[in-house]
Amino acid sequence: TTSGLSRDVRADFPILETDLDGKRPVYLDNAATTQMPRQVLDAMYDYYTHDNSNVGRGVHTLGMRATDRFMRARERVRAFLNAAEASEIVFTKSATESVNLVAQSFGPQVVSDGDEVLISGLEHHSNLLPWRRLCERTGAALKIAAVGEHGEPSLASFRERITERTRLIAVAHVSNVQGTVNPVGEITAEAHAHGIPVVVDGAQAVAHRSVDVQDIGADFYCLSAHKMYGPHGTGVLYGKAEHLDRMEALLLGGGMAPIASYDGPLVSMPPLRFEAGSPNIAGMVGTAAAMDYLDDLGRDAVHEHDTALTVRAAEGLRALGGVTVYGSQTPRGGILSFNVDGVHPHDVGAHLNGFGIATRTGVHCASPFIDSLGLVGTVRASFGVYNTPEEVDLLVESVGTAEKGFWTTEHPNERFLPPS
Ligand code: PMP
Repeated sequence: TTSGLSRDVRADFPILETDLDGKRPVYLDNAATTQMPRQVLDAMYDYYTHDNSNVGRGVHTLGMRATDRFMRARERVRAFLNAAEASEIVFTKSATESVNLVAQSFGPQVVSDGDEVLISGLEHHSNLLPWRRLCERTGAALKIAAVGEHGEPSLASFRERITERTRLIAVAHVSNVQGTVNPVGEITAEAHAHGIPVVVDGAQAVAHRSVDVQDIGADFYCLSAHKMYGPHGTGVLYGKAEHLDRMEALLLGGGMAPIASYDGPLVSMPPLRFEAGSPNIAGMVGTAAAMDYLDDLGRDAVHEHDTALTVRAAEGLRALGGVTVYGSQTPRGGILSFNVDGVHPHDVGAHLNGFGIATRTGVHCASPFIDSLGLVGTVRASFGVYNTPEEVDLLVESVGTAEKGFWTTEHPNERFLPPS
């Protein structure tokens, strides 16, 4: 076992046994997607083999079982995030959909011509483009809170940008590029003092730390299950009841309203109001199982484990020389970005793949941030519960032998060229 975790979890993850042309995967692309433990795969298999039906509709036994599991999954998510009410948990397909739902439904209620929406300079496109469109459609201005020396948007950088026209703030809890942890609790406190609601993009936080949405004071909190040991195609939007109550659904259809008519008022309560159509029940069952898994390991223990590996990687890479490590000196987010001087990140990534090491290379869906660093991209290693110090050491050793290849770091637009 590695520091933090009380047991060796590698055997829980069948994919780690996969043969990659004679190598076992050294999976360090957890910020893109984490792998699923048997406990999550089994929960979904069990659902499909014993309880599968549709929810909220049938009076038959399987329909009631499916409904029961679906409702329990919602309660599980509530507890995981410490939301006050299960009705504040909306199931979506992804963090991206969660942000878009807020931007399209809540956005126009609070933002109009001449107003301002404030985001940070390190946002993922999913927490940038929905706000850009909201601003374009309403005539508001998109303001950017500057990112500091180590890539963290400080409270001060938000405070500087808040004006009497600021109507909404959106910020990542943890940066997907370099794992920096933003002071979201302080930002919400400052924002609320000005009556401004805050949307927190928690996509990169939930796998690595315990999250209490009430403690943070978030008005909205968005996440994807596939980045926290759950399945793809399932996400969560937490929203304070007072906000969800006044928001309109984007999709209309079955399941969202108990009764509909040709001309009467549409009566529909959160969270079902936002979940028209048959939901991804197995996905939510898997999400709940992933939350059980993380809580069983202990989220503080997971945080300690992931942080220890990130620090080990940062120290090892810095000691190599000729490698630039980005972000804070003491990484905490389970994510690390670096570059080998003069070698394009894609070349480093391809080189690492030769050792069975999976990293992510490029702009990480955060082009404005990468541009602000003056880079063509980075190599990103991100760590999960099954990673080990030996894997980190293999990463460092392999980075040490990376050489200039096909990609050039000089061409400013080469990220748009296809690989060879
Ligand atoms: N926000 C951040 C910070 C992310 O890292 C990601 C995924 N890379 C997203 C949002 C979007 O997540 P998804 O693609 O699962 O919707």
